[in-house]
Formats: sequence, C-alpha cells, structure tokens
Amino acid sequence: DKPAKLAVLGYPIKHSASPQMHQAALDELDIDCRYIRLEVEPGMLNEAIDRMRQLGFIGCNVTVPHKQEAFENCTQLSDDARALGVCNTLTFSDDGVHGHNTDGPGLLNAIKDDFGVELKDLKVLIVGAGGGAGKAIATQCARAGCPQLTLANRTVAKVEAVRDELIQQLQLDPANIHAVAPTDSSFGELVKSSQLIINATSLGLKSDDPLPMDAQLIDASQLVYDAIYNPPVTSLMAAAAETGCKTSNGLSMLVHQGALAFETWFGQQPNTKLMKSAIL
Ligand code: NDP
Repeated sequence: DKPAKLAVLGYPIKHSASPQMHQAALDELDIDCRYIRLEVEPGMLNEAIDRMRQLGFIGCNVTVPHKQEAFENCTQLSDDARALGVCNTLTFSDDGVHGHNTDGPGLLNAIKDDFGVELKDLKVLIVGAGGGAGKAIATQCARAGCPQLTLANRTVAKVEAVRDELIQQLQLDPANIHAVAPTDSSFGELVKSSQLIINATSLGLKSDDPLPMDAQLIDASQLVYDAIYNPPVTSLMAAAAETGCKTSNGLSMLVHQGALAFETWFGQQPNTKLMKSAIL
C-alpha cells in the first residue's frame, strides 16, 4: 500500500469525494502517496495537524467545520486565504503550515471550463452569497473585477457585511455591488441585468427544496451555475434550462479547487478530466 501523506479533514467526512478525485491524479503521475479521509471533531484540528506533520504528511484539505480554525493556526497565508479569512488547503513544511484557499480560484476556472467565458467579464448575481461557499465566490468575483456584482441572501445582513468588507478591502465602487434579499423589490431588475447567476445556497440538495430564487426571472441569454453537484441537475438548473439558457453544476468547482490544491502540494497540474471522471 502507498503511504498516507494527504488527507481531507472534516466532521462529518464520509461523503467527501476528495479522496477518489485526488487518488486518481496521484496514481496517474506515479506519486507514492495515498489520500485519505480523516474525521476530526470540532476543536481537534490542531492536534490532527501536529500528528500528520509528525507522520510526514505533505498537507491536507480542510472542510466544514474546520476552515476558520485552519486559517487561525497557519504560520503563512496566501492572498486568497487572507482575503477570505478561511483556508481549505494546507501545505506542511519544516517552518510551519502554509494556508491557502482554492475555492474562489476553482470557481473561476470552472466558469472558463464549463461556459468558455472569463469570470472577470461578467455581471454576476450570487444567491446565497452570505454562506461559506457564497462568500468565497463573491470574493473571487470582486477580486477578478466583475463589472457588476449582486449578493443575494435570505439573511440580508450577512451579504451587507460581505459587501461592505469587499468595498473596503478592494476599494470597489459601491454603485457596482449590491446586497439584497431574493424577496426585495429590486431583485428582479438585478437578475435581469446579470449575465451569470450562481446558486450558492444549499437549496437544491433535497428534491423537495423550494427554488433559491424565482426562476421566471431567468432568460435564455444568461448562464446559470449551481454550486451543488449532487443531484447533478438541481431544480434551479432544470427550471433555467427550460428557458434555453446554459447551465452547469458544482462538479467543475470541486474538481478545480482540488486541482489547485494539488498544485500547491506538488507544483504540477493534475489531470482534471481524470479527477472528474473519478468522482462520476
Ligand atoms: P452554508 O451553510 O455556509 O450556507 C448556506 C447558504 O444557503 C446560506 O446563504 C443560507 O442563507 C442559504 N440557505 C440555507 N437554507 C435556506 C433556505 N431555506 N432558504 C434560503 N436560503 C437558505 O453552506 P456552504 O456555503 O458551505 O454550502 C452552500 C452550498 O454550496 C451547498 O449546497 C454545498 O453543497 C455547495 N458547495 C459546493 C462546493 C463545490 O465545490 N462545488 C464547495 C462548497 C459548497 P442564510 O444565510 O439566510 O442562512
């Protein structure tokens, strides 16, 4: 058996697709390393990291609920991690733990791959921009320079805070970044003026979930991306596809954030097509 040197840490963790995705890339490149799942209870992240470093691990991915704790315990941070205040990828070295966040850049590559367009050129609306994934996506859009950004969330105070943080951090023009609830009267106009609509809420994971937004507002010229990948076609994607617009799911984001994590560990790009098929 290959020695375990990489892992994904979360709680719970048994449904994570990261091990099969990374193992396929590792095996193809003949890297002598096994990628494992580690269930780590909240508050126990540091101990787990210390133990992995003693055992000679290269690094790890961290997921819910450890992303913030990971950030707080890094000795070095990438710009992406610093902009978000959370980490999803760690690399270990003799000097310490280097924290990264590849979720946002993963989305950027996913949009390019799935729709053949550059995120920076698009007016974007994110529903669920107050959640963890939504904030990473919003930050990426703002940093990429999207000409218009609408942050929608059921709890509007959360997106107001994200908006204010981004305006301050990146000196954005407040006229180009909006914080709304999907029930606000201004929401319809903001949807219509957007070119890319992203669902980053958890609505769509279950078949009886309500839609995260009114799908009647979507038209054929728009692109619709759902961060959810299981089910592969969410009810928002199905409703949007009926208008004739292009849709895609979060599998590409998962694969690309993984590929970027792989690059931080090995300095080389893994085969993303192979990673994707390993999940499917
Ligand atoms: P969070 O719990 O951090 O955020 C959940 C979001 O969904 C919040 O914006 C929340 O709004 C909203 N929401 C939840 N329930 C409802 C509801 N009944 N009505 C309206 N809004 C609701 O979760 P994450 O950000 O971690 O994950 C969000 C989604 O993104 C999940 O479906 C997850 O599978 C997916 N994801 C995909 C990834 C990928 O690589 N493809 C990576 C990470 C996540 P409020 O703030 O008002 O509670």
